[in-house]
Amino acid sequence: MSTAVPFVAETLADIKQRKKNVVVDRACIESFSDQAAQFTGLLQTSLDLTAVLNIFAEQTAKVLSFSAITYLNDQHNEDILIGERGRHSCCYRLTLEAESFGEICISHRQRFTENDLELFEKLIALLLYPLRNCLQFQKAIQAASKDPMTGLDNRRSMDEHITHESKMAMRYGNSLAMLVLDIDHFKRVNDRYGHKAGDCLIKAMAEIMKSTARTTDYTFRYGGEEFVMLLPNTTPSGAMLVAERIRESVEQTECICHGQALSMTISIGVSSLASQDKDDSLFLRADDALYKAKRSGRNQVCSG
Ligand code: GH3
Ligand code: MG
Ligand code: MG
Repeated sequence: MSTAVPFVAETLADIKQRKKNVVVDRACIESFSDQAAQFTGLLQTSLDLTAVLNIFAEQTAKVLSFSAITYLNDQHNEDILIGERGRHSCCYRLTLEAESFGEICISHRQRFTENDLELFEKLIALLLYPLRNCLQFQKAIQAASKDPMTGLDNRRSMDEHITHESKMAMRYGNSLAMLVLDIDHFKRVNDRYGHKAGDCLIKAMAEIMKSTARTTDYTFRYGGEEFVMLLPNTTPSGAMLVAERIRESVEQTECICHGQALSMTISIGVSSLASQDKDDSLFLRADDALYKAKRSGRNQVCSG
C-alpha cells in the first residue's frame, strides 16, 4: 500500500500550493465502499477527458466546497479549468505505476482544512484509472489519424476535416481551398536510388508542407507520394499563390538522403469550394487539376 507524499511549494505569499504525489491507496478505496463505487461508475461513463473531469468536479462539489478544479498535462497539451480560481489552491501530481498523468489542483476563496484535503485526495485516487483510460484513448485516436512515416494527418482524418471545414465555410460564407500535390516521376526515384531514398523524399516533402502551412491549414498524406492541403479562409487566387510557393520551395530544396543529394519537383492541382459542392467534389476537382498539371509537363500548378 502506498501513501501520499507531501511536496510543499510556497509560491505567492497568499497562495498556499501543496503538491503531492498521489498513488492509489487500496484501503482508502475500500473504506469508501458504496459511494466510491458510485463515484467510480460515473467517472467511467465517458472516455472524453473534459467530460470525465466535469463529472469529477460535479461529484466533488457534492461533498466539498471549492471554486475551481484545474487539470494540467503538458505531454497531452491539456490545460482544463472548471470553475473560477480562488486565492488558495492545492495541487497534486498524479502518478500511477510510476507513470505521470499530469497535475490536478483544487482552489477556493478560503483555505482548505486538513479534512477537506484528505477527502479530496481520496476522490483523486478514484479518478486516476478513469483519467488514465481517457488519456490512453486520446492517444489511440490521435495515432489512428496520423501517418507514421511523416507525422502528417492521414486520409481518414482528411475526410473528417474536409466534411467539417466544408460545412463551416458554407455556413459562414467563407472561402475554402484545396491543393492536391504529387511528386513527379517518383517511380524513377525508387528505381534509381532505392525505396529508402524515396521514403526520405516523402519525409522532406512533408517537412516543406508543414513549414509552408499556416496554423489554421491542414496537411495530409493522402497515400504514397500524394499529399493534400486544406486551406480555410483562402480565396482561389490566394490558394494559387500558396501552391506556387510550395512548388518553388520543393524545386529549390536539395535533400540529402543517405549521403546522396537528391532533388524533386511536384505538380499541384488547386480547387476552391463552390456553393453546389458536396461529398468529395472539392477533392475531385483538385485531383482533375493535378492530372492537367501532369499532362501539361509536370512541375506546375493548375486550377480546377
Ligand atoms: P507522376 O509524375 O505521373 O506522378 O509519376 P510517378 O512515377 O510519381 O507515378 P505514380 O504517382 O503513379 O507513382 C507513385 C509511386 O510511388 C509508386 C509507388 O511505388 C511509390 N510509392 C508509394 N508509396 C511509397 C512509399 O511510402 N515509399 C516509397 N519509397 N515509394 C512509394
Ligand atoms: Mg507521382
Ligand atoms: Mg501518385
